[in-house]
Amino acid sequence: MYGLVILPLAAVIYVTWLAFTGTFDWFFLALALIFGFVTEYGVTLGYHRMVVHKSFEPHPALKAVLLWLGSLAFQGPVTHWASVHTKHHAHSDQEGDPHSPSVSGFMYAHFEWLIEMTSDDIGEIKEKWGARYFRDPVIVWLSNTFLFWSVFSLLLPAAIGFFHTGTWEGAWLGFVWGGLVRIFITSHVTWSVNSVCHYFGFRTYVTTDHSRNNPVIGILALGEGWHNNHHAFPSSAFHGLTWWQFDFTGLTIRFYEAIGLATKVTRIPDSLLEKRRIDSLTSTLNVQELAMTEEEEQEQLHEAA
Ligand SMILES: [Zn+2]
Ligand SMILES: [Zn+2]
Repeated sequence: MYGLVILPLAAVIYVTWLAFTGTFDWFFLALALIFGFVTEYGVTLGYHRMVVHKSFEPHPALKAVLLWLGSLAFQGPVTHWASVHTKHHAHSDQEGDPHSPSVSGFMYAHFEWLIEMTSDDIGEIKEKWGARYFRDPVIVWLSNTFLFWSVFSLLLPAAIGFFHTGTWEGAWLGFVWGGLVRIFITSHVTWSVNSVCHYFGFRTYVTTDHSRNNPVIGILALGEGWHNNHHAFPSSAFHGLTWWQFDFTGLTIRFYEAIGLATKVTRIPDSLLEKRRIDSLTSTLNVQELAMTEEEEQEQLHEAA
């Protein structure tokens, strides 16, 4: 796991040094950004909103493509990612949260937890929190072939670099930019949702955790940085809950719904949003009393619909 932190960082330092010595090509920067964007999107929409929170019902083809993209992101097999995230919601900022800055410190929540997690820990988490993910054949197949897709995600940009320049140096630069630099960007963006968004930002809703809405991570993490909204309404397909909270992932769910690739999109009625907002502003209740379990949230959604 150390390699996951150190090698991408080394690659960023290396390409910065290359740029200062005159070797820079916009093509490779674009390769890193586009490939990072696409794979991160597989995580935010596929792994997170679709698999863990079931915030919409995808067409089988959409589901397969999203999970495949997520599997290229170097953030672990979907069974593993989803199990850890399920545990995060169950214990958010309490003892047992895999990555909480208030319980274990900012850097621990950012990436040290990944380094310290043993395979026994992962096995336990999957067993306790991931049972439902193992019942889905697409999820299981992509998780079982995760290593293959990870290697593929490094070789593909190398091949693109080779065809772009016709040289082995191009293949090397494709690997470094589209492989390692890209992983640096997406890892830190996703890790920031766990660390920054439980530490810096504003809170609209009272929740049992310290989740925050952070506009910078909101944009960089394709909508996932509206994290206080997300902890207040985990099943909502949309994390940006007002017009100015840009939520790229959420916008694309609207698009898939419009063309019939997504159904049963979970929307929180305005009346319920407003009620929770006012309750949060005025309440003297403690956070435990205001927080809802997943079942209570579903109940309220039914009532409001
Ligand atoms: Zn969180
Ligand atoms: Zn979540």
